[in-house]
Amino acid sequence: MNQEPRVVLKPGRDKSLRHRHPWVFSGAIEKVEGAPASGDTVSIVAHDGAFLARGAWCNESQIRARAWTFDPADTIDAAFLRRRLEAAIARRATLRPGSDAVRLVHGESDGLPGLVVDRYGATMVVQILSAGSERWRDFWGPALAELTGVTSVYERSDVEVRVLEGLKPRSGPLVGDAPKAVRIVEDGIAYEVDVASGQKTGFYIDQRDSRALAAELSEGREVLNGFCYTGGFSLAALKGGAKHVLSLDTSDEALALARRNVELNAFDGSRAEWLMADVFAHLRKLRDQNRKYGLIVLDPPKFAPTEKHVANAARAYKDINLWAFKLLAPGGHLLTFSCSGAVSADLFQKIVAGAAADARVDAQVRRHLGPSPDHAVSIHFPEGEYLKGLWLQAS
Ligand code: SAH
Repeated sequence: MNQEPRVVLKPGRDKSLRHRHPWVFSGAIEKVEGAPASGDTVSIVAHDGAFLARGAWCNESQIRARAWTFDPADTIDAAFLRRRLEAAIARRATLRPGSDAVRLVHGESDGLPGLVVDRYGATMVVQILSAGSERWRDFWGPALAELTGVTSVYERSDVEVRVLEGLKPRSGPLVGDAPKAVRIVEDGIAYEVDVASGQKTGFYIDQRDSRALAAELSEGREVLNGFCYTGGFSLAALKGGAKHVLSLDTSDEALALARRNVELNAFDGSRAEWLMADVFAHLRKLRDQNRKYGLIVLDPPKFAPTEKHVANAARAYKDINLWAFKLLAPGGHLLTFSCSGAVSADLFQKIVAGAAADARVDAQVRRHLGPSPDHAVSIHFPEGEYLKGLWLQAS
């Protein structure tokens, strides 16, 4: 092998890599020997020269390197990456069956920094989020097709975070033609997924287990689903026997797809009401109308994209949860979520507790909620814990 560029860390800055955390920040680096381009493989060594990791370099991002491996014997090549893909796919083989929407690769947590792969039946969607995974762009599609037998791999790298890595947003087919109408079945419910222009890769696969919980809690209840997107929780509630489900979202396209999903399942449309409305304003309106709900779901978008948005996000989370508590019938259930990585589970629970207190509601935490296990987070990578939720029941 040619001389691999070497990244030498400052004294005492080797701890996180020794703890198998995959990121190297610019401030930890003493010097770089060689002139790596973004995406190149570098070896990362402690100040005394001891090997720590082999990773992908990035000239643009504050995260200057992301570790592919902590084993000095590993070479980063197609065979290595293929083994990583295989291992990620194999880990999902033991998961609860019954859904053809599965996250197959969850970035850093699967030892593949900056790579996300979601499978929707015979279609796969790939997101390339780092300079390192971009370097291998031509490899992922064919390798995934071969390992899984899918015939269509679509790229949805049209996300802002790529800019930090010096990469432009991009989307389009990687293998096969652009997929037309993609349909999945999750726990007996059919959904159409817009992989080309839907949010994220088209569907919030991470909420599968919580949607199943919503179905269990819905029998005979009035249900309110704020931030409904294409109807994930609403359809689960309809399947679970809800008396009526009111769903709110500000996106026209999402609501249109949600309505189609009701038809797809031949659910009784009169039990489902869809409103294009801002949750913040509409919860107040419902309160004015003295409405009460036996189950409320709040799964808002990321209110805090970064640390500096946490204070505003906290106010927003508090606001919607306060009004939700006021709308809960006695004994009613609230499933409330935050997908802001910058808001810890602890902080989120404090915010929700404050909201309950201000609404003068006593509530119990029935369970802490998180993403379904195909989104498992590496124990060495707490940054991966973005989605947290609470199942609360009012007294
Ligand atoms: N729970 C959904 C995913 C929710 S994603 C599922 O399981 O599929 C968040 C949704 O909130 C998006 O569809 C977005 O359009 C919507 N949204 C964002 N701000 C909103 C607001 N102020 N009021 C209502 N909907 C909003």
